[in-house]
This record gives sequence, structure tokens and C-alpha cells, in this order.
Amino acid sequence: MAKAAKTSVEETPPEEGVRRWGMVIDLDRCTGCQACVVACHAENNVPVVGEEESARGRSMHWIRVERYWEGEYPNVKARFMPLLCQQCTQAPCEPVCPVFATYHTPEGLNAQVYNRCIGVRYCANNCPYKVRTFNWFRPQFPEPLDQQLNPDVTTRSRGIIEKCTFCVQRIRRVELDAGAEGRDVHDGEIQPACAQSCPSSALVFGDLNDPDSRVSQLARSRRAFRLLDFLGTDPAVIYLKGGETNV
Ligand code: SF4
Repeated sequence: MAKAAKTSVEETPPEEGVRRWGMVIDLDRCTGCQACVVACHAENNVPVVGEEESARGRSMHWIRVERYWEGEYPNVKARFMPLLCQQCTQAPCEPVCPVFATYHTPEGLNAQVYNRCIGVRYCANNCPYKVRTFNWFRPQFPEPLDQQLNPDVTTRSRGIIEKCTFCVQRIRRVELDAGAEGRDVHDGEIQPACAQSCPSSALVFGDLNDPDSRVSQLARSRRAFRLLDFLGTDPAVIYLKGGETNV
């Protein structure tokens, strides 16, 4: 694999020959339609908690769309920012877990071992992006809703923290298929559910360590920025600033 080119944002130097999965989110393209949220629920067996629990701050979306208003009335514009686990290289959630339920994979994913989690929620409290959700109740999928469950993904019980994995089950499937066929994973071959469902292609997933991948090219845009970058979390999610000419 060729050496990765530098992006316009500060990042951990790439390891030669190792993938670093990442995502670029173009805020100019996001219309706030929430198709990504629905797709994530369907793909990852994420329960719908309902209005009452949401009002108590117990919603369980692995990706949510934050809404901002720009300008002063009457010249006000709505802006949208999809927010999911930033898969930080220096993840604040990892060192505070007393049972090592959350850890870093060699490919840069911030993984969560569900059957190791004891639900103390230190990780969620230490996450500056607030993208870890807690299962307050045992999720119910009464018939025929159980038919919609994705067999590639565990259905989690109550009392654990769960979160976005960049659809790791899809990543593994493509990696295994490519390995069996004796070839590399092609750029764009892996699509997390959110990226696949986005009608405006605002979400682009790929290998940040491959300088030729689309995600790397977009990360080098002068519009690129990372959320709360000053905290030094080194996220693998890179946003492209909205309201500017596409560069
Ligand atoms: S599906 Fe795409 S356009 Fe719709 S909210 Fe998600 S990122 Fe934005």
C-alpha cells in the first residue's frame, strides 16, 4: 500500500500497511432527512424507545442529526450535523472502562464488547460527543418485528452501553470475502448502513490510510475539520464545513 498523504487536519501518522477506517461527512450535502438514522436502527437492531423515554434523555440512536440555526430572523437557515461515534484514536471512553469492554482495534475502530460491559457508564460520561447510549430496559421485538432483526448483529440486553461500530459486521464480511478471493478490499466496497442510505451521498466511508481513497481525498479538502479537535481525541470522522464552495 502506498504511503498515506497528509490531510488538512492534524492526525495520528498512519501505520504502513494498516487500514484506518474513517468517514467524511459533507455538511453542505446533508438535508437532515434522517434516512441514515432509520437505516442504522434497521441494520444494527437498535431499539426504538418511544416518546416518553426519549423525553427522559434515554433515546438510543447510534447516529443522530443535530440541528442548528444560522443567521437572524427572517434570514434564518437550518443546518444539520449527523453525529455518530467519532472512532477517536485517543478515545476518552477507553481508559475509563473498568472491565476493558471498550477497546481500540488495529484498524482504528473503537470497539465495544457487549457481554463484557457491566453498565457503569463511565465511558458515556467521558465521551465529549455523547454518542454512547445505555439500554435502560430489555428491548422488546414482539412478532412480527423479530423478523426484521439482522442476524449478523447481536440483540443487546438491558444494562449495557452500545454505540456505532461503522457497521463492523459489513466491514468483516467484505474483508473475509476479499481474503477468500485473494485480493484487496476495493475503495467504496464497504458501505455502512448510514452511508448507503444517504440520498445526497453526504457520508463517505473508507480507508484514511490509503491516500487514493475517496475518503482520504475528501479529508484533504480545505473545508475539513474535526469536532472538538482541541481535545486531542483524534477522531476518524471528518466533517466538511457547510456554506462554502465545494473544494
Ligand atoms: S441521510 Fe444523509 S442527508 Fe439525510 S440526514 Fe443522514 S446524512 Fe443528512
